[in-house]
Amino acid sequence: MVENERLRQEMRRCEAELQELRAKPAGPCPGCEHSQESAQLRDKLSQLQLEMAESKGMLSELNLEVQQKTDRLAEVELRLKDCLAEKAQEEERLSRRLRDSHETIASLRAQSPPVKYVIKTVEVESSKTKQALSESQARNQHLQEQVAMQRQVLKEMEQQLQSSHQLTARLRAQIAMYESELERAHGQMLEEMQSLEEDKNRAIEEAFARAQVEMKAVHENLAGVRTNLLTLQPALRTLTNDYNGLKRQVRGFPLLLQEALRSVKAEIGQAIEEVNSNNQELLRKYRRELQLRKKCHNELVRLKGNIRVIARVRPVTKEDGEGPEATNAVTFDADDDSIIHLLHKGKPVSFELDKVFSPQASQQDVFQEVQALITSCIDGFNVCIFAYGQTGAGKTYTMEGTPENPGINQRALQLLFSEVQEKASDWEYTITVSAAEIYNEVLRDLLGKEPQEKLEIRLCPDGSGQLYVPGLTEFQVQSVDDINKVFEFGHTNRTTEFTNLNEHSSRSHALLIVTVRGMDCSTGLRTTGKLNLVDLAGSERVGKSGAEGSRLREAQHINKSLSALGDVIAALRSRQGHVPFRNSKLTYLLQDSLSGDSKTLMVVQVSPVEKNTSETLYSLKFAERVRSVELGPGLRRAELGSWSSQEHLEWEPACQTPQPSARAHSAPSSGTSSRPGSIRRKLQPSA
Ligand code: ADP
Ligand code: MG
Repeated sequence: MVENERLRQEMRRCEAELQELRAKPAGPCPGCEHSQESAQLRDKLSQLQLEMAESKGMLSELNLEVQQKTDRLAEVELRLKDCLAEKAQEEERLSRRLRDSHETIASLRAQSPPVKYVIKTVEVESSKTKQALSESQARNQHLQEQVAMQRQVLKEMEQQLQSSHQLTARLRAQIAMYESELERAHGQMLEEMQSLEEDKNRAIEEAFARAQVEMKAVHENLAGVRTNLLTLQPALRTLTNDYNGLKRQVRGFPLLLQEALRSVKAEIGQAIEEVNSNNQELLRKYRRELQLRKKCHNELVRLKGNIRVIARVRPVTKEDGEGPEATNAVTFDADDDSIIHLLHKGKPVSFELDKVFSPQASQQDVFQEVQALITSCIDGFNVCIFAYGQTGAGKTYTMEGTPENPGINQRALQLLFSEVQEKASDWEYTITVSAAEIYNEVLRDLLGKEPQEKLEIRLCPDGSGQLYVPGLTEFQVQSVDDINKVFEFGHTNRTTEFTNLNEHSSRSHALLIVTVRGMDCSTGLRTTGKLNLVDLAGSERVGKSGAEGSRLREAQHINKSLSALGDVIAALRSRQGHVPFRNSKLTYLLQDSLSGDSKTLMVVQVSPVEKNTSETLYSLKFAERVRSVELGPGLRRAELGSWSSQEHLEWEPACQTPQPSARAHSAPSSGTSSRPGSIRRKLQPSA
């Protein structure tokens, strides 16, 4: 306990010291690394204090325990003493009684008769005594055991006391260690504080020195500025003078400017006048050029012939089947792209046209050929492009094409759009389209609300002699999107009208009529050009035996209209007075576009396979005849041979072995009179 008291005092002293230390370093250098370290140390210190407080608690607990144990020990010792005293008393009493008993026995032995009784009583008493003795011995034994037990307890207590002493010693050692650590930390802190103080003094000295140097430099600068100021004063004076002079000049400037503007205006006016007269001159020249161009164009058309015939051979397709029937029967001339060779029933036949497109030719290639025709429409020419040939030879492919690879129709409109756009600075154009079909000599509007309605062709009431179709729908188009919408609309009309569109379209003529109306913004001159794109009905001849009823009627109508087309072209090219336009709806409708200085292109579609050679031969003969109709004035009607509508009414193709209108000058086919094979041939001296 004394030791404990001492430790407690020591601890109190330590705490007081600690308090002092904590109060000390609060001030001088916040934020420096030493303060950080000191904070660490402080943390450590508080940790140590905590540990110390814990130890103190433990110590006081142990003290309490020791106190308790000591109290109990004292109690036990007291009880032990009591027990020993009791035992001694009992022993004394018993030994006294024993002695008394022995004495009694001896006296009784001396007195004999009563002795026996006495002995007997003594014997009885001695057994009692013996019992009491053994009882007291047992008690004695019990007390001794208790004493031993108490001794054991005492020993344990002593051991506990010893261990608590050891603990106290350990704690003391720890406290000493903490104290030394505390001392060390304190020393460190003092050292750091000292070094920081030194640093601070040093920094202050340095800053002071620097400030002195800077001050000196500033003083020097000030002196320089002063001298500069003195030298600048005269410059300022001259500047002020200059400024006053300029001010005077600026006052006079508006007058000067007005004068300059006047002269410039006069110059510009003169220049504009010059440009104007130049422009007039250019415009005059341009108009003359325009006339010349049209003349040249007409001349070119006259030289080329305003009816051109080209052939296009489609590739062999899956639909042609397999075997000998589907073998290729058409070949081309490597050096001359106007020649086509056909092997018909083992005999080679050749034809010459304006151009022949092989199956490899693309839609663009074909379009390239017709491009010039289409643009002439913008200059006010009327143009007809026909696709002729048997069903399946590629007429619709050439005219309409596929959505991915459009044909002449869409490409023509696209070209017209771009051409019109190019001329937009001088010309205003509107482009309209109509779509119609002729089936069994009945004209129908494909863009109308009532596609079933029959349309009539009438003469314009204005006396111009022009024809028009009352009720034929015209859509104004401005973009490719518009065209697509129009085409789609026409197609939908046709699809809803006819269940078997494929069959129907092969037996009707489909017309796309594009009208380009223009006005020259500078002259007010107006032009109208019409482009007629016609997908003709299939030219195949129907055998008499195979056709009945409606099919026969269809065939007759087709034959009639195709022959009429041939007749009209023939009459036009031979410049006959009478052209039989009225022989069919088709020629009557296209009258404007076939006559005058209009231009016609016939694309003859050809199937290349063996089984179609009869029809191919027939188509090529038709083409060559159209082409060979003479342009020039020298040829009389008689020389042309007949172009009768019977040509299209040959009912029995099987028994007619078509004679090739051969390039090799073989005999002409249906010759009532000899017919020149082509213009080129006609130029030969023999013709
Ligand atoms: P038509 O209108 O003369 O009856 P189509 O134009 O319908 O004939 O052509 C018949 C088939 O041949 C179509 O499937 C078409 O796509 C195909 N065809 C025609 N010409 C060509 C060609 N030049 N290239 C590829 N396929 C073609
Ligand atoms: Mg077709």
